[in-house]
Amino acid sequence: MTGKVTVVGSINVDMVTTSEKMPKQGETILGEAFHTVPGGKGANQAVAAAKLGADVTMLGKVGEDAIGKEMIANLQKEKVCTDYVEPVTGISTGVATILLSGGDNRIIVTPGANLKVTPEYVRRHEKVLRESDIVLIQFEIPLETVEEVLRICEAHQVPVVINPAPAQKLKKVFWEKATWITPNETERDELFDGHTFSNKMIVTLGGEGVLLPGAETVIPGFSVTAVDTTGAGDTFNGALASSLAAGKPVTEAVSFANAAAAISVTEFGAQGGMPLKKAVMQLLE
Ligand code: ATP
Repeated sequence: MTGKVTVVGSINVDMVTTSEKMPKQGETILGEAFHTVPGGKGANQAVAAAKLGADVTMLGKVGEDAIGKEMIANLQKEKVCTDYVEPVTGISTGVATILLSGGDNRIIVTPGANLKVTPEYVRRHEKVLRESDIVLIQFEIPLETVEEVLRICEAHQVPVVINPAPAQKLKKVFWEKATWITPNETERDELFDGHTFSNKMIVTLGGEGVLLPGAETVIPGFSVTAVDTTGAGDTFNGALASSLAAGKPVTEAVSFANAAAAISVTEFGAQGGMPLKKAVMQLLE
């Protein structure tokens, strides 16, 4: 069974310039290389779920610019439905400007059109949410929109996975209405003072694996050679949603996501390292 996953979230581009040294204030230097990489937690998690065979629809916004078109094309290439992704005028697509020099980095994230993913926008697409098996959402869009998605999904009894990243204090209503909440350890500590456990919480522990709801059982991580952990969390969440949408029980879905995320760290790049279902099944055998 293939499930329907709807991701409500950010669509960004990472613009990466590498140079031998970091420019000082007011200084202009020559760079070594430049490349753009599709990103944004929303788009990344949508791609992860689609690669694993889920029927994925993206709800989000881009600017009316060339980058926005490119990011939509990238989602389509990965078989994510972008029918409801809207271009907004007067604001850019979300951009992370990244300067890399040796081990040092400087990053500016401009949310741009992601801030225009409003409660009104998700209300207009209530039908998409209603027809989903799982809705997956992160914190790179306005929190009032997260709240509206939770409200709509509760009304239609659609389960919601909240990936609370980047960490922000969780309102009580999020706890009440979310089905699953998936922080990493840092987010868990920031959001919940490190000692509030819940039977809704699935905590990712990096290479150590995943803490199941109830906080008593750890599913150990797979032993792999990690080359780049960027996007491990996004792969985990996309995989979890795809498995839950297909009707799997939560423990099985977490094991599947744990394996998918382990494979993702063996390759470079966030979306670049996301596995196909066959590879995940092989690792789980
Ligand atoms: P990131 O921000 O790097 O994308 P994250 O901090 O959101 O990731 P982590 O808890 O670091 O999330 O990792 C998510 C999941 O990825 C882990 O629960 C695990 O399943 C897998 N994972 C991460 N690092 C490793 C590793 N070194 N070896 C095996 N699995 C890993």
